[in-house]
Amino acid sequence: MSRPSIPGSGLAKGLAVTLRTMTKKTVTAQYPDTQPELPPRSRGVIGLFEENCTVCMLCARECPDWCIYIDSHKETIPPAAPGGRERSRNVLDRFAIDFALCMYCGICIEVCPFDALFWSPEFEYAETEIHELTHERDKLRDWMWTVPAPPALDPGAEEPKEIAAARKTAEKLAAAEAQVQVQVQVQAEAQAGTAVQVQNKSQGRTEPTDPQGTDPQGTDPQGGPS
Ligand code: SF4
Ligand code: SF4
Repeated sequence: MSRPSIPGSGLAKGLAVTLRTMTKKTVTAQYPDTQPELPPRSRGVIGLFEENCTVCMLCARECPDWCIYIDSHKETIPPAAPGGRERSRNVLDRFAIDFALCMYCGICIEVCPFDALFWSPEFEYAETEIHELTHERDKLRDWMWTVPAPPALDPGAEEPKEIAAARKTAEKLAAAEAQVQVQVQVQAEAQAGTAVQVQNKSQGRTEPTDPQGTDPQGTDPQGGPS
């Protein structure tokens, strides 16, 4: 059996709730006047780093919504060395994502083996025409510039293999360049020495024969000018 309620108790409760919430900090952001502070890895839109894409089609095959469209053709590359074999490579003609179908699952980004797709936190790309939600490669590339830099590594973390490989290549190139500089310097010094000898000969002089170098004027009768 329910207890009889006191008249006006409901009103008092409602007023108590109103007073409690009036004193709390507001959490409603007045978008678009106030931009939301999104986490850097928010799933807003997908950016394409075209240079890394090898047209392997993995992302298009794995997309559960079939909303990635890729067209490509094959191109023959001449052999790297004479007598070598010609090779062929895929050239990207079209890469588009239909964001009207995309469900932002991130599978395409996860499966891309060449780091060509990235999440950008940008989300302001609403359109009044649905077909304009299909973003072609140029637009996907533009989104790339809004992708935030990856967070710093933990102290003591292993160096990423891409950075290690790039550093080793840079070190090898620097060593090769230094070697070339040394060779150039040695050649220049050798050429300068030859030029001095030729000049002395043309002026009718020979090198002083004083091996100790004690007679720099060349007045030694044994080693003087002939
Ligand atoms: S996020 Fe998911 S649904 Fe959207 S394009 Fe990538 S795989 Fe397809
Ligand atoms: S998985 Fe990556 S490399 Fe392969 S087609 Fe898709 S974006 Fe290009």
